[in-house]
Amino acid sequence: MTYRAPVADYAFILDHIVEYARVAQTARFAEADRDVVAAIIEEAAKLSNDVIAPLDRGGDLSPARLENGGVVSSPGFADAFGQIAEGGWIGMLAEPDNGGMGLPLTLASVVNEMMSGACLSLALEPLMCQGQIEALEHHASDEIKALYLPKLVSGEWCGTMNLTESGAGSDVGALRTKATRNDDGSYDITGQKIFITWGDNDFSGNICHLVLARLPDGAEGTKGISLFLVPKFIPDENGEAGAANSLSVVSLEHKLGIHGSPTCVMDYSGAKGWLVGNEHEGMKCMFTMMNNARLGVGMQASAWPRPLRKRHTPMRWTAFRAARHLVRMARVRLSTMRRAPDARVMRAEPMWRGAFRWRVVWRLIWGAMIPNGRRAGRS
Ligand SMILES: Cc1cc2nc3c(=O)[nH]c(=O)nc-3n(C[C@H](O)[C@H](O)[C@H](O)COP(=O)(O)OP(=O)(O)OC[C@H]3O[C@@H](n4cnc5c(N)ncnc54)[C@H](O)[C@@H]3O)c2cc1C
Repeated sequence: MTYRAPVADYAFILDHIVEYARVAQTARFAEADRDVVAAIIEEAAKLSNDVIAPLDRGGDLSPARLENGGVVSSPGFADAFGQIAEGGWIGMLAEPDNGGMGLPLTLASVVNEMMSGACLSLALEPLMCQGQIEALEHHASDEIKALYLPKLVSGEWCGTMNLTESGAGSDVGALRTKATRNDDGSYDITGQKIFITWGDNDFSGNICHLVLARLPDGAEGTKGISLFLVPKFIPDENGEAGAANSLSVVSLEHKLGIHGSPTCVMDYSGAKGWLVGNEHEGMKCMFTMMNNARLGVGMQASAWPRPLRKRHTPMRWTAFRAARHLVRMARVRLSTMRRAPDARVMRAEPMWRGAFRWRVVWRLIWGAMIPNGRRAGRS
């Protein structure tokens, strides 16, 4: 086990740094008082420690892969995502009217931090869903909200964020994905997106892509971009996932880490989509999801040092001991040089080199042999 959620640290931060009591004093979050918060953190910690964290290593050893056009997720991810959804964690921030818990972002950030520390690859999926839920709550039409939100909040369907294209990364306004209007009020979306986190999976009934594209009369740059909801399966008359849409996963990106998180190249070939917000105001709407993701990614940065420290302790400890030894020997050498500049240094140097080499070799062997758990206590 590599991860233990720092429950006591969260309590301290909420009480003494964030001053959570002020959040609970507001009418909107009055029910989320300190006792409720403690219970929520306790539950999320159990899930993170016992269900999510054990999957982290497996996610890197058995990465998500593309098979017959679909993503096959890493072992155990499907079941763990099911447990995250069942616990209501995907809808933490969502309005109760849409089936969510309506919790404050402060608390959701704590839970997201835990899950990210436990297994970042998996935690990215609920994070994407949360961002899309927030964007739809703010900008989608009532029909779209009624059709999609309950399923996204329950985790039955998942969501993605599609901005990036080759040649349109930081410069989103350079995107080339096109949208054309259909008579029935829908739009056809054509283009290719890259780097799409969890662009596909094998555990949700549908995948809802929020896609930035430009209409024929859209201005150049970010001002002419519109936002569309493009589902993998088009909902039928009962609101269930129906016919397959004209979109596909072309490939998975090769990354340095988080191999359990499939980062997809997505192709849209006249895929059916529905407008979110007003035409040409897509950037404004997408920023709701982007800002949610930015906060989430920021929490990931604080989540990761903890498991990293535990995991890399033997090597870190070895490096520290070797560096300390080097400093000691340097001090001995300096003082020797000061006292007897020539003779003693000539005699001491071979001894110094030999002793240092052996000690470094010994530290490396020793560091590699001692299991993480025993060394972790020293960090
Ligand atoms: C693991 C991962 C997951 C991702 N998930 C998603 C996702 O789900 N959805 C999505 O849409 N995108 C996703 N992205 C893409 C991400 O948003 C882009 O990588 C990001 O927008 C930067 O674009 P780029 O990689 O093309 O870099 P570039 O835009 O080419 O930038 C390269 C470098 O140049 C610098 N630079 C760029 N423009 C300027 C300038 N004008 N002045 C000075 N410096 C500049 C940048 O700061 C950067 O250091 C993901 C990326 C990664 C790595």
